[in-house]
Amino acid sequence: MSTDLMRVETDVLVIGSGAAGMYAAIEAARAGCRVFVADRSLIGRGGATVMAQMTVAVALADEAPDHWSHHYQDTLSAGRGLCNEALARLLTEQGPPCIREMDGWGVGWARKNGKITSTFAPGHDRPRCVYVDFLNTGPAVSKTLRSALYKTKGVTRAGDLCVVDLIRTGDAVVGAAAWHLGSGAPVVIDAKATVLATGGLTRLYRRNSGSANMGGDGYALALRAGATLIDMEFVQFFPIGHLAPRLIGMDPIMWDPFRYKLGGRLLNNRGEEFTQAYGVPEDGKYIITRDVGTYAILKEVAAGRGSPHGGAFLSFQHVPEEKLREAFGPVIDRLAANGIDLTRMPVEVAPIAHYHMGGIAADAAMATGIQGFYVAGEAVGGANGANRLSGNAITEALVFGREAGRSAAAFAGTLRTVPAGNARDTVDLIAADGPASVPNTAAMLLRLQSVMSDDVGPLRTAERLDRARQAIADMQIELGERPFGSNGRFDPIRLDWFDLHNMLMVADVVTQTALRRTESRGAHQREDFPGMLPQWNVNQAAQLNGGRVSISNVPIATQVAAQ
Ligand SMILES: Cc1cc2nc3c(=O)[nH]c(=O)nc-3n(C[C@H](O)[C@H](O)[C@H](O)COP(=O)(O)OP(=O)(O)OC[C@H]3O[C@@H](n4cnc5c(N)ncnc54)[C@H](O)[C@@H]3O)c2cc1C
Repeated sequence: MSTDLMRVETDVLVIGSGAAGMYAAIEAARAGCRVFVADRSLIGRGGATVMAQMTVAVALADEAPDHWSHHYQDTLSAGRGLCNEALARLLTEQGPPCIREMDGWGVGWARKNGKITSTFAPGHDRPRCVYVDFLNTGPAVSKTLRSALYKTKGVTRAGDLCVVDLIRTGDAVVGAAAWHLGSGAPVVIDAKATVLATGGLTRLYRRNSGSANMGGDGYALALRAGATLIDMEFVQFFPIGHLAPRLIGMDPIMWDPFRYKLGGRLLNNRGEEFTQAYGVPEDGKYIITRDVGTYAILKEVAAGRGSPHGGAFLSFQHVPEEKLREAFGPVIDRLAANGIDLTRMPVEVAPIAHYHMGGIAADAAMATGIQGFYVAGEAVGGANGANRLSGNAITEALVFGREAGRSAAAFAGTLRTVPAGNARDTVDLIAADGPASVPNTAAMLLRLQSVMSDDVGPLRTAERLDRARQAIADMQIELGERPFGSNGRFDPIRLDWFDLHNMLMVADVVTQTALRRTESRGAHQREDFPGMLPQWNVNQAAQLNGGRVSISNVPIATQVAAQ
């Protein structure tokens, strides 16, 4: 057991090693910086990137005409009027060079006749989504970036290093304080510039497609460091997450690629296709966007027309067996091992928490308005507005990562020496003795996930949101200010405490912003305020003032102000 303080010095600190963090690190190192990459999990294996199966949206125009401006327009339409246009433009305009650079690094984008091939996905006006194969795109992206990162000189990598807080000195972020999970030691990383790329928050929800490292740490870290969060009410639910029968060893969002290939019929318990009642006649095709799909399924369930486990049926029974085998390949055998024969039965699907449109406010240089502090990937809010298009998240991670790495390196180049920050309070917290008697943290995590799923899910009312706020406030009191567990080697109870500390803060912001937005738009549907209202053509910005979260309306795309 060691609780001795370790101190590290670097030009650029990158927190998180998904696609965004790894690209940022590569870019900053290519600019000549010493880079330190910290991840609470294994490098390149802890977040959503390595789990993503399917497609990456980009106007490559290899097979057929396309232009980034068409992708941009589709992104704005899907965002229901709330996109930060500068970020949406960056994502769509810089997607092609990033995808081509990844191609050069050997990611293996699928090709037809020598050209990188693209598939159609809902919300895009033409086939625009590249992939490696439909089940391995994320692992291939992650592996390619890991290889490039390992080959890049000047990068130090540290896994098992959970960042607990950023260090703010005066106007600037000057590094971070972390907890080394394996030894229990506090670690202070002094940095000229910091890139936060910690991914999303779907662990707040009981049914989610992500990993245990996606509890929204980055949003809480940024808030405490004085940054602004925007659009926090917009949590994306993926409509057709697998629900039943039980499926072992498969991804809950695995049905999407097969809907790309085969369409498939989304049915209620009367055997009827129902999406036309919600404005989108699919007729066996796959065109419904995620926000409308989620809404339609949940409304069918509420009307008593849901499947036995509370979702909808997805059926491929009308597709000939040989076509199914052609599309699904060996997956057919894995389904058979789980007792699923798609020629004879539908499966049940239901919305599952999947992605966060909201996040840390940034400009198109990925700057947060706080000196030396940059953000990248899903941690950034605004590019996708109220609803994200399929495939935009990996593009966002690559493009924003590259941009953040560049900006951080440029800023670091303006400083002669590495500033030494004061992280005493966080170091004391990491090393503190825990209270003797503590509640069950695993049960608290489940409770929080239930509160968020039941009362802050896709369909919301003031009554449920108020109830959630109260429950979150009660849990914050229960959690207290002193970490549970011990300051020794890997202690899951202490990790739960730090996780809950952040998750409760972030859950409160999601709930408060959802309560304030008295309209329905994209992923945020208020049953007591149906329909989009022009006065809500604004973003909501959340900040921490005197320890309390304050929220205000801000005109779209003006969220980043120098602080
Ligand atoms: C199952 C699944 C399938 C998906 N499929 C697609 C798809 O087909 N196409 C698409 O465009 N998008 C898809 N997405 C979304 C997309 O994968 C993500 O939005 C994107 O990969 C996010 O990349 P990122 O680098 O921002 O974050 P991540 O890849 O999530 O990486 C964040 C990293 O930060 C680390 N971290 C978090 N907190 C801390 C801390 N306190 N200290 C240190 N490290 C920390 C985590 O361990 C993790 O390694 C999918 C997501 C999931 C979950």
